[in-house]
Amino acid sequence: MGKTVSPIEPSETMHTLQKGFVNAGFIFFSLAILATLIFGRYVCGWGCHILALQDFCGWLLKKMGLHPKPFRSRLLVYVPLIGALYMFVWPTVYRLFSAPHEPLIPKFTNHLVTTNFWQTFPSVAVAIPFLFVCGFMTVYFLGQKGFCTYACPYGGFFGLADKLSPGKIRVTPACNQCGHCTATCTSNVLVHAEVKQYGMVVDPGCMKCMDCVSVCPNDALYFGFGKPSILVPKSDAIKRTYSLTWPEEIVGALVFFGSFLAVRSVYALVPFLMALGCATVTTFLTLKMWRLFRVKELSFYRFNLKSAGKIRKAGWAFAAFACAWIGLNAHSGWVRYHEFLGSRAFQKIQVPDELALAQANPARWLSPADRQNILAGKEHLQTASKTGLFVNSEALPKLAWFEYLLGNAEQSVQVLVQGAAHQKGEGKALSLYYRGAILNRLGRYDEAQASLDEALAESDDLILARQEKGESLWQLGRRDEAISVWTDAARRNPRLALVNNELAGAKQSSGKLEEANGHERQADQFTPNDPLFHWMIGRRLQDLGMTELAEKHFQRAAQLDPGGEMPAEGLGR
Ligand code: SF4
Ligand code: SF4
Repeated sequence: MGKTVSPIEPSETMHTLQKGFVNAGFIFFSLAILATLIFGRYVCGWGCHILALQDFCGWLLKKMGLHPKPFRSRLLVYVPLIGALYMFVWPTVYRLFSAPHEPLIPKFTNHLVTTNFWQTFPSVAVAIPFLFVCGFMTVYFLGQKGFCTYACPYGGFFGLADKLSPGKIRVTPACNQCGHCTATCTSNVLVHAEVKQYGMVVDPGCMKCMDCVSVCPNDALYFGFGKPSILVPKSDAIKRTYSLTWPEEIVGALVFFGSFLAVRSVYALVPFLMALGCATVTTFLTLKMWRLFRVKELSFYRFNLKSAGKIRKAGWAFAAFACAWIGLNAHSGWVRYHEFLGSRAFQKIQVPDELALAQANPARWLSPADRQNILAGKEHLQTASKTGLFVNSEALPKLAWFEYLLGNAEQSVQVLVQGAAHQKGEGKALSLYYRGAILNRLGRYDEAQASLDEALAESDDLILARQEKGESLWQLGRRDEAISVWTDAARRNPRLALVNNELAGAKQSSGKLEEANGHERQADQFTPNDPLFHWMIGRRLQDLGMTELAEKHFQRAAQLDPGGEMPAEGLGR
C-alpha cells in the first residue's frame, strides 16, 4: 500500500525493455541471471515462489498416496526458452523493424519505487485458479517440476545461463551408482548417469536444490566449481526415455500452441504464465485421451483407465474430466477468436477521437472502411460477449466506442458504465472519461461532471478529463469552478490547444481581455494547421457559447479547406 518498492518480479523486466522503466524486478532478474552464470541455476530451487508452491502440492499429493510422475517430452522442453524470447527479446526485435528510427531501448527512468504496487498483478479471482493450475494440476499431470520444465519462461534464461556456469553438482570417486540421487531428484535429472558420464550434473534443469547431495549414502556428491557443462563434449551414452512417440510429440506441440493462443488474455483475464500452464495441462490431457482410445492397456498413477481393451470406470471419469477441460479450452478459443478480431477492427479505425467527440453523432467523419470495421468489430465483440462465460472488461469500452461511432450515444454510455464496473486503475479512468465526454455532448452535464470526477479519482493525471469537467461546469453555470479546472489542466499541459481556447473564451466573457489574449496566443502556438482540428475546436467553443472565438476557428478551417469538404455548419456555407 502507498509508496513502496516496485514488485521484485522478473516479468517487470518487460517494462524496462519496452518503456525504459528501471524497476526492482529488472534489477532482481539481472542479478539473478548474473549469479546463475557463476553458481548455476539455484534461484529456481531456493528463491522461486511457484517452485515452493509445486513442492507444497507435491508434498500434499504424496500425503494422499499419489507420487507425481515426470512427463518427458522432447519438444515441449523448448517452451520455456521460446516463452523467454517472446517476453524479453521479441518486443525489442519488433521495435527494431516497426520503428527503425526510434532508439532500441527507450531512455531509462527510475521506477524503483511505486505508489501502485498491485497495478501489474492479476486480481485474486485470477490468482486462485492460477495457483491451482500452475501448482496442483501441472504437478499432478506433468510431475513435480512440471511448470518449471514445460512452462516457466524465466527458467528458459536460467537454463541457458546454467550451461555456462562453473558451479555444478559434482561427484567424487565414492559413487557406487546406487541411483538414490536420481530417485530423489524432482527435476527429472538422471543424476547417477550424468555424474558417471561427465563427473557432474550437466542437465540445465538441475536447480541446485541439494536433495541428491543430502541423500547420497556415500557422500559422493557435492556442489563445486570447475568446467561449465557447455565445454564438456556431449555423449550418447545416456539414453533418456520419453513419454511420447514422435507423432505424439508433433500433435502435442500443435495442441500446446493452439491451447496457448486460445486461453491467453481471454476475457482480458488469463495472464501469460497461466496460459502456458493451462496449455501444458491441455496437451497432457489430449495426448492421454488419444491413448485411451488407441491402446489396450492404460493406467494413470494407481488408476487403471483401460485394461484388455475395455475402458474402466476410472477411465470414463478421466475422459469426462479431460473432455470438460478440453471443451472449456476450445470454447475459450472461440471467444478469444472473436475478441481478437473485434480488437483488430477497433485498431483499424482511422477517425481521431477528438474529431469523433466534437459532436454527438460523428457519422459524417467515418470513411467506408471505418464503417465496415466498426460493424464487423461490433459483431465480433457482441458474439464474444454473448457466448462468453465472463465479462471482458477491455472489450466493453471498445464496444462502447463502436456504438458511439454508429450514432448510438445512449447505448454507448450504458456500455461504458458496465465496462467501468469491471475495470480498475487507468482503464476504469478512461472509460469514465469517455462516458463523461459523451454525456457532455448529450447535454447531460450533471451526470457528465460526476463521471469525470470519478475518472479523476481513479487517475488524477488524466488531463483530458479536467478539460471535459471544465466544460460540464461551464454549462452548469459554475463558471469560476470551470475556469479553475481549465487553469489546472493548462498548468499541467500548456500545449493543450482546446483548454487554452476555452480559457481565452472564459476570460473574454468576463472582460479580462489581456489574459484572454495570452491564452489565445498560447493556444494558437499549439494548434495544428489542420482544418478538421480547427473545426473541432470551433464546434466545442460554439457549444460553450464562445461564439467569437468559435467563428475564428471556423474561418480558419474554411481557409485551410478550399475544396469544401468541411461541414457547412459553422462555416457559413
Ligand atoms: S546416490 Fe550417491 S552413490 Fe548413489 S548414484 Fe547417486 S551419487 Fe552415486
Ligand atoms: S536433486 Fe540434485 S540434480 Fe536434482 S535438482 Fe536437486 S541438486 Fe539438481
